Amino acid sequence: MKVFKFGGASVNSAEAIRNVAEIVRQYLETPLVVVISAMGKTTNLLEKVVPGVPASDNDRRKLLQQNTDYHLTIADSLFADKGDPTFGRLRELFGQLDEVSARKATNYNFDYDQTVSFGELISTTLISGYLNSVGISNVWVDVRDVIRTNENYREGIVDFDTTRRQANSQLSTLNSQLVITQGFIAGTAAGTTTTLGREGSDYSASILSYCLDADNMTIWKDVPGFLNADPKFFANTIKINKIPFNEAIELAYYGASVIHPKTVKPIQNKGIQLNIKSFLDPSADGSVIGPFDSIEPLTPLYIFKNNQILISIQPKDFSFIAEENLQTIFAVLAELNIRVNLMQNSALSFSLCLDYNEILLDKIRERLESQFRLVYNTGLQLITIRYYNQQIIDEIVDGRTILLQQRSRTTTQLLVDSK
Ligand code: ASP
Ligand code: MG
Repeated sequence: MKVFKFGGASVNSAEAIRNVAEIVRQYLETPLVVVISAMGKTTNLLEKVVPGVPASDNDRRKLLQQNTDYHLTIADSLFADKGDPTFGRLRELFGQLDEVSARKATNYNFDYDQTVSFGELISTTLISGYLNSVGISNVWVDVRDVIRTNENYREGIVDFDTTRRQANSQLSTLNSQLVITQGFIAGTAAGTTTTLGREGSDYSASILSYCLDADNMTIWKDVPGFLNADPKFFANTIKINKIPFNEAIELAYYGASVIHPKTVKPIQNKGIQLNIKSFLDPSADGSVIGPFDSIEPLTPLYIFKNNQILISIQPKDFSFIAEENLQTIFAVLAELNIRVNLMQNSALSFSLCLDYNEILLDKIRERLESQFRLVYNTGLQLITIRYYNQQIIDEIVDGRTILLQQRSRTTTQLLVDSK
């Protein structure tokens, strides 16, 4: 059995979805589980209609209409039969999404998951229906009945035992070799929807690969493989052909956008190789993450994260930044499920680099401002370089102000002003 993952960019138009169908068609002789993300930028849009977020009901409706139009335009172009039952299913999902997003805000993380999960429910419904309509017969599976998490909304913690049991009982009894299911979303014991964190569809595919003992897993991307830098930021990228499991974990942890940080561990545990291939050139080699000793070719690797905020936290009572203060700060970060990209402390101040998120920033301030003074810089870029040297650093920084820097033997991280 193989597991494929198609991300938002690979299903962002009718043409892209036709291409996915052509790729899947090449692999119909073996059992295949296909994990799909929300189409294009749908998750970003849905984040704006989470209860409590839209400025007005009018804004909310406009965004939802935009979402409906986007999907229906693509469906119209894909389906020869405009009476295909998929249209009814899609309308049902748009209706449910409208109802969920109009609810009164409760807990932001909970509301978030109930709302943004529709991106994947809609994309898989549309694509599964389309594949069936062109003779690629498949079964649509609701992954919320398969991947079990706890109630840690926006970043559900996976219960692998239950997931393995459910995956084997649900997926092995199907009378189809081809399963279409959702990335990113999961379900609790009570049947409530959760998500696995932004870009979590890779992780979904890896969880299913692990639980089903897949022969291998493939992530289909709009790049030729695992590049030494994101081509959006860097002109002359080099494809890395082989990446050891541990190197891939480190890179993803630092923010290499090619895979989600949690993706590698489960498949590494079972020695399942992960291919990264281009959906634009499906027969090309791509990259392989596997049991290798070092990356090949060995070359500097760059990871860029934009829209960073540096928060400096100073105790108001002029106490030092000591264990008790750090404990208070970390309790707040843990409560809000916030991931720290870089941190550093001095005697009087503790500095944190985070992905900028206005709502979470307000919540941090609410909780800390009675005890601490918070100062921040926004619009920053975090650069991580593995296998660095000084010349490379100078080129990349290019005269910008460095607000924070850390170095280890193999890795340096620099927080700089954006240009
Ligand atoms: N649709 C989700 C996101 O955009 C999950 C994913 O794409 O992997 O974050
Ligand atoms: Mg995505």
